[in-house]
Amino acid sequence: MIDIDKLTELCGELGCRITPECPLREYITFRFGGPCRALISINSAASAAALVKYLRENGIKYGIIGRGSNIIASDDGFDGIILLFGSDIADITVDGSTMRCEAGALLASACVHAQQSGLTGMENLFGIPGTVGGALYMNAGAYGCEIKDIVVSAEYIGEDCELHTISKEDMELSYRHSIFTGSGSIITAVTLSLAPGDPDTIKAAMTECMSKRSSKQPLDYPSAGSTFKRPEGSYASLLIEQCGLKGLTCGGAMVSEKHSGFVINKGYATCADVLELCGKVKDIVKEKTGYTLELEPVILK
Ligand SMILES: Cc1cc2nc3c(=O)[nH]c(=O)nc-3n(C[C@H](O)[C@H](O)[C@H](O)COP(=O)(O)OP(=O)(O)OC[C@H]3O[C@@H](n4cnc5c(N)ncnc54)[C@H](O)[C@@H]3O)c2cc1C
Repeated sequence: MIDIDKLTELCGELGCRITPECPLREYITFRFGGPCRALISINSAASAAALVKYLRENGIKYGIIGRGSNIIASDDGFDGIILLFGSDIADITVDGSTMRCEAGALLASACVHAQQSGLTGMENLFGIPGTVGGALYMNAGAYGCEIKDIVVSAEYIGEDCELHTISKEDMELSYRHSIFTGSGSIITAVTLSLAPGDPDTIKAAMTECMSKRSSKQPLDYPSAGSTFKRPEGSYASLLIEQCGLKGLTCGGAMVSEKHSGFVINKGYATCADVLELCGKVKDIVKEKTGYTLELEPVILK
């Protein structure tokens, strides 16, 4: 049983904002999903550790959301507590060519911070709409750069509800995977190593990345970015296009005409629409090409 009054009291003591019966559609970029029992905006690593301890001790289900740009939330919502790593835990500090970002800092803000500090190395990540914590969780990447290329260490809350530090070598970073993926550990801060560079050149590279994105991706519709992981030996978007699936629709969900790797929300999609469409795409691609596609976004359950 979730005692919302007790949780509200604890949040008050910790200085964290809590919103009971919070609609998840407002916190995920796909823009669907029912309510969670309460959403708590985390304000520090210590608060997160105290809350996780309370939730675990009381057997309360919880989930973590950053920017919600790689999440599929159920139409029925989430029968538990969501810990939001957003703007309340988003400090960025620079020391020489090292940058420490709290987990809720947006990757875009980190890129701008780096550029303004004359630091190069992460400009190709500009335009990925997640947080730094979410980016490390999935080892996000674009245009030949992944977060694994620049990360040095991370601070996280482990199974024991204590804060730990892990260095890059121990993070098991590979394509859309890190040691954090599916582990239950919570990233609270990430330290990146960059190199001195010319701010104007960095800015030009960021602008180029953004214009490539807006020319190729359906950014005017809600989505979770690439819906399927890149299968070994091919590209999901290529296979989907070859199978003639651009424009395939289920309810309000559609395979984008602009970029076949994206399933978009035409404005009224439900989670059920998206999952049905993804199932159809997977079946047809498997039947026609032999490739097995795997969903990239995480289903919140
Ligand atoms: C238009 C668009 C374009 C995109 N382009 C790219 C791209 O080029 N490359 C790419 O890699 N991705 C891309 N994505 C996907 C997404 O932006 C990235 O995966 C991003 O890193 C997710 O970060 P997030 O903060 O939104 O995480 P969320 O979506 O909030 O969460 C994703 C997963 O990470 C976990 N998580 C989040 N924060 C933490 C934390 N602090 N501690 C532990 N677990 C955490 C969540 O529990 C969940 O399991 C795109 C998405 C969109 C909508």
